[in-house]
Amino acid sequence: MILDIFQKFLIMMIIFVPLEHLLPIHKKKALRSHWKVDLGYALGVVFITSFGILSLIVVSLIISELFVPQTLKTWVSELPLLVQISAIMIIADIGYYWIHRMFHEVPALWHYHAVHHSIEEMDWLAAHRVHPIDQIMTRGVSLIIPYALGFTPAAFASWGIFFSLHSYLKHSNVNIPFGPLRWILASPIYHHWHHANIERAFDKNYAGQLPVLDIIFNTAIMDRDAPDKYGTDHPVSNHLGWQLLNPILKRTEN
Ligand SMILES: [Zn+2]
Repeated sequence: MILDIFQKFLIMMIIFVPLEHLLPIHKKKALRSHWKVDLGYALGVVFITSFGILSLIVVSLIISELFVPQTLKTWVSELPLLVQISAIMIIADIGYYWIHRMFHEVPALWHYHAVHHSIEEMDWLAAHRVHPIDQIMTRGVSLIIPYALGFTPAAFASWGIFFSLHSYLKHSNVNIPFGPLRWILASPIYHHWHHANIERAFDKNYAGQLPVLDIIFNTAIMDRDAPDKYGTDHPVSNHLGWQLLNPILKRTEN
């Protein structure tokens, strides 16, 4: 697993560093401030997060064994691969939308999610800055139903690669024109608006992958140009240890 994580990090670096240089949304320095904090998430905190998500996948396989009829699982596993990948994406993103929204709307949870929103310069590396409890809940819990339904390992692997690449892309400082595709798949500009520190953008664009969810639930901003200010007014320190511990301590105060 350690090798997988380092390998993935290197591949993403090789893809996104040149792209951010060639097609930037915002012009900026090669080494922005607080990059070391995000490197700490990418190569350290990731192990806690991965362990948590894997534990939830085990839970969902137990739920599947106990409650999901074998006939349903067989039917799901025999669907064409593309249908399975699309179904995982839709089911997982509905879960992601609501859990993500809960992390914005419930004050005790916002302490955790504010860490992710403390990013003031969007790029591929900043995508890593997510509190492990936030990441385990939004990613892990949203996968419980798909895993319980019995989609095939090949479908999860294909969706996982796509999800990962897309997750880096939507946080990145890469200006790839999506055209009409921006209504189907969250573009970098779309997700940048979720991170904007501009009042009309607060609590908007929750969807991880499918903007249609924000359109249905009336939380979409579909501007074509990127915002010019990112971050949150919620006080978040730039120290990794503080970011990891403070939300837990705050929560016990609540
Ligand atoms: Zn958010």
